[in-house]
Amino acid sequence: QRNSGEANRGGNVRVVVRVRGFLPREIERGATNLIEMDPRNQTTILHPPPESVSKTNSRKIVEKKEFTFDNSFWSFDRRDDHYADQEDVYNALGEEFLDHNFEGYHTCIFAYGQTGAGKSYSMMGTPEHPGLIPRTCRDLFERIESNNSPSVNYSVRVSYFEVYNEHVCDLLVPRRETPYYLKVRESPTEGPYIKDLTEVPVRNIGEILKWMKMGDNNRTIASTKMNDTSSRSHAVFTLVLKQIHHDMDTDETTERVARIRLVDLAGSERANSTGATGVRLREGSNINKSLTTLGRVIAALADDVPTKAGRKKREVVPYRDSVSSRIPVTNEQSSTDGDFQILTWLLKDSLGGNSKTAMIACISPSDYEETLSTLRYADQAK
Ligand code: ADP
Repeated sequence: QRNSGEANRGGNVRVVVRVRGFLPREIERGATNLIEMDPRNQTTILHPPPESVSKTNSRKIVEKKEFTFDNSFWSFDRRDDHYADQEDVYNALGEEFLDHNFEGYHTCIFAYGQTGAGKSYSMMGTPEHPGLIPRTCRDLFERIESNNSPSVNYSVRVSYFEVYNEHVCDLLVPRRETPYYLKVRESPTEGPYIKDLTEVPVRNIGEILKWMKMGDNNRTIASTKMNDTSSRSHAVFTLVLKQIHHDMDTDETTERVARIRLVDLAGSERANSTGATGVRLREGSNINKSLTTLGRVIAALADDVPTKAGRKKREVVPYRDSVSSRIPVTNEQSSTDGDFQILTWLLKDSLGGNSKTAMIACISPSDYEETLSTLRYADQAK
């Protein structure tokens, strides 16, 4: 166990919110912006939609709701001086998390929110506006290349998978006609792992971006073939940074391994399976369970603050919720029923301990119900 005092600087859980600007379809229907943010105190206010205010005589009076997060990123209008662009988000979050990785600790950043709220934009971004994933990759190699100390050796590996309906799919292999699901196992020493998951060594930014694009294309191909699965799957991009320090005086070597997880979660509206039947119902319920468990795990971690007298725990981190004692061993079993949620279980070793976790709650500017539900989820995770 490493010294936890240093690692806990600033707390281990960060919850931030980011609002995007109007999309063309919202401008077309004359949508109203319901979000107000105060950059001085990081508050986010959700106003009721105008049509509900005019109905004040009816029983349904919708009030404005106010929340405070570690950051409230205003990405509504580029012309505003407090507009938060991709670089601002990276500087506020990604950079510090990478510092932590170089100190030898794991980190995990999740993007949560309804489909279309800006999760992929925040994590992956666009070629003109790269998001957290490409920026982290770039910064990682810049730091490695600028360190010319002969006593440190670095190696980086990358993997990219998605969890769809409690099945794990490798995004770094060419897509097959029929989906191929990987088996999930647990090793007594290494914890949960995915058997046969592609994990490629990368030596520079060019190589890593090539794999990142391939994985992203695979995700898009799958989503068009299978009626937009991307909003129904969790995508997990992982970098493993290994540093080998060689002490010239004593001739001893020490190894530090840090895992960097960047996760684009399934659309939170999918968790609401009202009216759904069959496959959609099961999908919705799996998404609901995995998002609920994840929220509870993060909330428990946030409460697990170090004190002078040691670590204080309000609640045991509920990993157990995410896994039954049954470990899936076949493709058929790697899914389905019970309280088994692969996502939280797989991320177990990246959450808690000295790891840092962040949740980016992405919201649309004009959708009261979904935004309120996202803000409440984020608020509970704090
Ligand atoms: P999600 O991944 O949550 O389904 P996307 O990231 O695909 O949502 O965002 C939906 C659309 O909104 C995309 O066209 C995306 O480029 C755009 N968008 C999202 N967030 C922002 C932002 N902060 N600034 C500019 N455009 C954004």
